[in-house]
Amino acid sequence: MKTIYLDNNATTQVAPEVLETILPYFHEFYGNPSSAHSFGGQVAEKVTEAREQVAGLLGARPGEIIFTSGGTESDNAAVRSALAAYPEKRHIVTSPVEHPAIRSLCRHLAKQGYRVTEVPVSSQGELDMDVYAKSLTPDTAIVSLMWANNETGVIFPIEKAAEMAKDKDILFHTDAVQAVGKIPINLRNNAVDMLSLSGHKLHSPKGIGVLFCRTGLKFKPYVIGGHQERNRRAGTENTAAIIGLGKACELAALRMKEKNPRVRHLRDKLEKGILEKVPHTKANGSTAPRLPNTSNISFEFVEGESILLSLDAEGICASTGSACSSGSLEPSHVLLAMGLTPTTAQGCIRFSLSVYNTEEEIDFVLQKLPPIIERLRSMSPLWTGHQRA
Ligand code: PLP
Repeated sequence: MKTIYLDNNATTQVAPEVLETILPYFHEFYGNPSSAHSFGGQVAEKVTEAREQVAGLLGARPGEIIFTSGGTESDNAAVRSALAAYPEKRHIVTSPVEHPAIRSLCRHLAKQGYRVTEVPVSSQGELDMDVYAKSLTPDTAIVSLMWANNETGVIFPIEKAAEMAKDKDILFHTDAVQAVGKIPINLRNNAVDMLSLSGHKLHSPKGIGVLFCRTGLKFKPYVIGGHQERNRRAGTENTAAIIGLGKACELAALRMKEKNPRVRHLRDKLEKGILEKVPHTKANGSTAPRLPNTSNISFEFVEGESILLSLDAEGICASTGSACSSGSLEPSHVLLAMGLTPTTAQGCIRFSLSVYNTEEEIDFVLQKLPPIIERLRSMSPLWTGHQRA
């Protein structure tokens, strides 16, 4: 059975060009970039090139790129650096729809005595900018807001939010794990101080990420040990993954204009098709600015987990929310924050596309999904209750 992979916000296929680039760095050029000999030196040169490629995609300087183990580490490093650099400040501003890498960290920090403000979002997932403005205080050590939401694709006005924080001399971090490679980002002339990205969301291997840290910023390292990454992140570099991430960033920059509109077309076709063919459905966050690849749909009167299992039986991979919370039957915190009831939130499916999806795959999903929902509803007490009402 062919797999139709529509779960690209969970993770992506390593691009064939990336795989080809990195293979020799496992068995042929396996030197340590910190070694004094030229065998290691040639790997150091490739790491330098990768740093330039990542910086190129972000409009950053190579020296502002710190390689980490992924999005979660970058998020932790950013927030913890701000708190360590400004120990007198005890307040953090964030949102209720952040990925657990920020949300759970902030909740953990709240238990340690930090004050955490979660700026609410609207029913479309948009940040309440008035509450945000009021939440910035002289005691605020850092703002951490995601650039784009992993479950709905809704994009926050990060440049504006960063500007507002800068006006009050407050550090601004953004979790751009879902945004990088999907929408243009240019850090050259904006007020973002720190930004997290993750390799496996943009067709490079897992276990590699970046923390962008603006030149001149007071940075306190989270991982301490050797002097790699100019003393900002200790540990022998994950060289093959770093080189792969560099290649993936180069590809993403090339594909941004040419391929992303095609992804948007496929996403829109899928979403429109579902809304037309299946009654009692709604696309969450669809009137807000959104990533081109993500669609989050509520199917009333049916459980998301049952939809996923039926799709899986047809070879279609989607998800009910973030991969990090799958397995838990709790409704999504993102959808609850947008005002969905727990029952409706439990009937939501996220479809997230990539440049590798095709028109035929979308047609196949549009053919298989409506009868699945009809069958599941016919067995659902929620549906029978609705019919009787
Ligand atoms: N932030 C967001 C918005 C994400 O979607 C993810 C992964 O799903 C992460 C952070 C965590 O990244 P990683 O898996 O590289 O730790």
